[in-house]
Amino acid sequence: MKLSLTKVVNGCRLGKIKNLGKTGDHTMDIPGCLLYTKTGSAPHLTHHTLRSIHGVPAMAQLTLSSLAEYHEVLTEYKEGVGKFIGMPESLLYCSLHDPVSPCPAGYVTNKSVSVWGVGGRVEMTASKFMAIQQALQPDWFQCLSDGEASCAEASSIKRARKSVDRSLLFLDHCLRLQEESEVLQKSTIIGVIEGGDVMEERLRSARETAKRPVGGFLLDGFQGNPATLDARLNLLSAVTAELPEDKPRLICGVSQPDEVLECIERGVDLFESFFPYQVTERGGALTFSFDYHPNPEQTLLQQNGTQEEKQYVDQSKKMKTASDNQEVTSFEINLKEKKYQEDFDPLVRGCSCYCCKNHTRAYIHHLLVTNELLAGVLLMIHNFEHYFGFFHSVREALKNDRLPQLKELIRRQASGAWHTGLTSR
Ligand SMILES: [Zn+2]
Repeated sequence: MKLSLTKVVNGCRLGKIKNLGKTGDHTMDIPGCLLYTKTGSAPHLTHHTLRSIHGVPAMAQLTLSSLAEYHEVLTEYKEGVGKFIGMPESLLYCSLHDPVSPCPAGYVTNKSVSVWGVGGRVEMTASKFMAIQQALQPDWFQCLSDGEASCAEASSIKRARKSVDRSLLFLDHCLRLQEESEVLQKSTIIGVIEGGDVMEERLRSARETAKRPVGGFLLDGFQGNPATLDARLNLLSAVTAELPEDKPRLICGVSQPDEVLECIERGVDLFESFFPYQVTERGGALTFSFDYHPNPEQTLLQQNGTQEEKQYVDQSKKMKTASDNQEVTSFEINLKEKKYQEDFDPLVRGCSCYCCKNHTRAYIHHLLVTNELLAGVLLMIHNFEHYFGFFHSVREALKNDRLPQLKELIRRQASGAWHTGLTSR
């Protein structure tokens, strides 16, 4: 694996990660995202349908919480999780938790970390964790770590120090076990940066993890309370400044476009794509514009026309008043609303996805109100394609020195609040 940067502008890194995968012939663009999956499959989609989507990321994210329970089956299967889930050609990254399922706190000890699957809690020591990774054989995996120092009730300096100490111990233990395993030589351990909201501990975590032979870094615990946004972004800048330039930086729990751009400016390379999934689950379609022009004011009018501009303003107003509907963001429209029942436009005019080429908003509305499963399929196709298109646009903007224009465009469409996601670990 080799990360080469083609450009670094105001902290934003544009480049490629090359020589990936078991055969070493995969490449991934940064900044970019991973494909969000549920137990190894893109939600609502078959692999055949997934292939119709443009810009699908080269690497899919699996979550240990959904796979730990299949440990024995996969050990017996012997050929790794990629082949088991029918994606032998995809690059696979295994994270500890599912970003959309909150994980109960209070189950990390000096010896073990717990993940929560369908059947309940699965407690993992370093040995059990590495045995599972050996059965999964992912290309990258997040190391076992103590991610609980970021919880509001546990943000003391002492707790932060403990999270760093424990995570380094887990990392050293896992690295030792990796050395002893022939199968795991092909997998790359991603070291996790912990330390809660304590600057000193965050820096220690970054420096110490960087000394170890990890393939990249996961920035854990930077999502959460909007009130502490500035402080967290400062922490993020300080942490990435300590990391070597030639290894990828992933972040978890951050997926909304405005948040993504803030993190890219602070040196983050890879994101999770759970946001389009969350939008799909609430019957929404991503409609935000990422088509930037030198003059942002002009862009919004040109792109959406005056009618859509008004709709955006109405939506923003609603965001600020409707506290019972906090989840809906101004990046999307809610297709369940009655006003779409006679709307014969596609979800987004000009979108080249399968859904927009073949169906109208009225049809999706109809599928949603009649609880047809196809609604989820069509929305997922559009939302993934729209979201992957956003990342493509980010890279193009970086290449052409237009990221500030894109950021302004996104900022104007955002509600202004740092969305907390659902990752309340
Ligand atoms: Zn579409």
